[in-house]
Amino acid sequence: MALDGGCRCGAVRYTADVTEPEHHAVCHCADCRAASGAPMMAWLAVPAASFTVTSGEATMFEGPTGSQRHFCARCGTGLFFVNGDMLPGIVDIQSATLDDAATLPPAAQIQCAEQLDWITALPTMPTFDRYPG
Ligand SMILES: [Zn+2]
Ligand SMILES: [Zn+2]
Repeated sequence: MALDGGCRCGAVRYTADVTEPEHHAVCHCADCRAASGAPMMAWLAVPAASFTVTSGEATMFEGPTGSQRHFCARCGTGLFFVNGDMLPGIVDIQSATLDDAATLPPAAQIQCAEQLDWITALPTMPTFDRYPG
């Protein structure tokens, strides 16, 4: 299956041609939080050989452990993550950037030791289709 996605402004597009993704997880680590400015991130791991940037060029920020976070320099959308030591042969796609982000739901939550305490309260919070009336 071809998994296509890209950044908000459309400057950077990618595709991953995979039979089955390696895994798909929501990550609660502090580094993902700092990089995204969001409480958690969802990552879809695909074989590096299956992954191609099809238009534009992502900018890369390298973290202290050799983690390379690739993002669009124009609109700021985070796109994918590479760490040759920790995850050899893998590209981790920020799955919310897939054109159809709902197709493949995550199957696990990882790095929960670093999650924000209030995450566990999410299911108990009131919900609104849009905003409170
Ligand atoms: Zn962009
Ligand atoms: Zn993380």
